[in-house]
Amino acid sequence: MKALVKEKAEPGLRLMDVPEPAIGPGDVLIKVLRTGICGTDLHISAWDGWAQQAISTPLVVGHEFVGEVVETGRDVAEIKPGDRVSGEGHLVCGKCRNCLAGRRHLCRSTVGLGVGRDGAFAEYVALPVGNVWVHRVPVDLDVAAIFDPFGNAVHTALSFPLVNEDVLITGAGPIGLMAAAVAKHAGARNVVVTDVSDERLELARKIGADLALNVARTTIADGQRELGLREGFDIGLEMSGQAAAMREMIANMTHGGRIAMLGLPSEEFPVDWSRIVTSMLTVKGIYGREMFETWYAMSVLLENGLDLAPVITGRYDHRDFEAAFADAAGGKGGKVILDWTS
Ligand SMILES: [Zn+2]
Repeated sequence: MKALVKEKAEPGLRLMDVPEPAIGPGDVLIKVLRTGICGTDLHISAWDGWAQQAISTPLVVGHEFVGEVVETGRDVAEIKPGDRVSGEGHLVCGKCRNCLAGRRHLCRSTVGLGVGRDGAFAEYVALPVGNVWVHRVPVDLDVAAIFDPFGNAVHTALSFPLVNEDVLITGAGPIGLMAAAVAKHAGARNVVVTDVSDERLELARKIGADLALNVARTTIADGQRELGLREGFDIGLEMSGQAAAMREMIANMTHGGRIAMLGLPSEEFPVDWSRIVTSMLTVKGIYGREMFETWYAMSVLLENGLDLAPVITGRYDHRDFEAAFADAAGGKGGKVILDWTS
């Protein structure tokens, strides 16, 4: 089969023939229809410092996908060939304390699809049945392809109750945009999104943000004044991993405010800890999705009319992966999709 492979320890990816994955008794073989390009894939393609220590070559990359089940192992009863599915990209150990307690998203020994084992940017991918999510209600294929990052957005946005609250989202990449849509859908009063890309801020407006601020030109405090906020934001969703964004967020929270932080900083940075203490802020780290409560929430949000269409801004044939990766790395658009069916 064709697959997008990090063949050697150097920058770039190669579309090449590799063996089809074999399945065990508890596995599902999936024909991949469409995939989404994630920041992780960009890191692996660019072969940066993180990729060099995290990746063993050769590796089939990619973890965001939708596909159709073509074969199931002997012990798989609940999933059938023909089912339309997406996959949870964190393969958990099943043995640690959190796994045994059913808190699989807190597993301390996860293996990442397309990171620690062969991934989904291929004609076929195999997964344990416990990592497969069946779309019981029809979902647009492009949206189904990005359930993995949609899950990051839902997990972050719904970490704290936000009905009637004022929500600040720093970072208007695809996950920040989806989190803004979820926050509005779930009943937030004001959703403010910040970024330094006017193109991405325009997408934030399209998806329903009340205010989209370019923090290269204006401050979050100015945004508060524009909306008539007097005491700061109740909920913060940090999506950028940027030190300046986290510092600004801390400075603009109300007393008792709560911050969910998904953005992954590339290095340590100082923040105003005395402000965190005296404003009595909560900061919660978010990684991945809850299995499978977040997946359930995603399906039901879409069923109830949540519209993610504005987030998807690039569609490419898998053979044009180089243009697709350049688009995704440009930092101006939303989500980029690769089609594997042609
Ligand atoms: Zn575990």
